[in-house]
Amino acid sequence: MTDIDKNIRILKDQVPVSVKVVAVSKTMPVEHIMAAYSTGHRIFGENRVHELLSKKDHLPSDIEWHMIGHLQSKKAKQIIPFVRMIQSVDSQKLLNVINRESEKLGLVTDCLLQFHIAREESKFGFTFEDAVRMFESTDFMNFHNIRICGVMGMATFTDDETAVRKEFIDLREIFTLLKNKYFLNDPSFSEISMGMSGDYKIAIEEGSTIIRIGSIIFGDRI
Ligand SMILES: *Cc1c(COP(=O)(O)O)cnc(C)c1O
Repeated sequence: MTDIDKNIRILKDQVPVSVKVVAVSKTMPVEHIMAAYSTGHRIFGENRVHELLSKKDHLPSDIEWHMIGHLQSKKAKQIIPFVRMIQSVDSQKLLNVINRESEKLGLVTDCLLQFHIAREESKFGFTFEDAVRMFESTDFMNFHNIRICGVMGMATFTDDETAVRKEFIDLREIFTLLKNKYFLNDPSFSEISMGMSGDYKIAIEEGSTIIRIGSIIFGDRI
């Protein structure tokens, strides 16, 4: 725990200032989060609703929480009142619920669309075709309480750097195609969230604007 403040300082010294660092604090206790917070860091990511809710009341209210894990539609309304961004929007159904619940609260919720770019099987994430279908649906045109700020993705967990780089390039190309087709006049659509402890350097080389870092900062999860 004593190294957390040092770890995050070293990391942030290496990362260009234009790239946001989300400190992924899943499984970590509030004391560890406070060690990172004490360096001035404010952006933290969690992947479970229950865990996020149980920690956030014991932590300063100026933390910007990012939801980065699969979110069940029925749990969305619990985090919408305070979460800074939902990075893991992986279906139109979920986006619909986020929009509806945000509307009830008079909020506009910042979201990233999660794309399935890895070789690994996963149930979660849009394909490019899914996203096009959604953007061209009449439903989407009536979503006034969400703001799509960009894309998010996770590369395959492998030592094969070429394969990882290819997946990051794929995500950047998805971002560019969507930007040109649907968001050219929308400066909010600007984020590419890619890169974790094992692959963030490659991700930054390929255009990442947000990296999500857990183990480099907090140590291995047990
Ligand atoms: C756990 C997690 C991370 C951080 O992983 P590390 O390898 O510990 O940096 C990033 N993104 C998502 C979606 C995660 O679930």
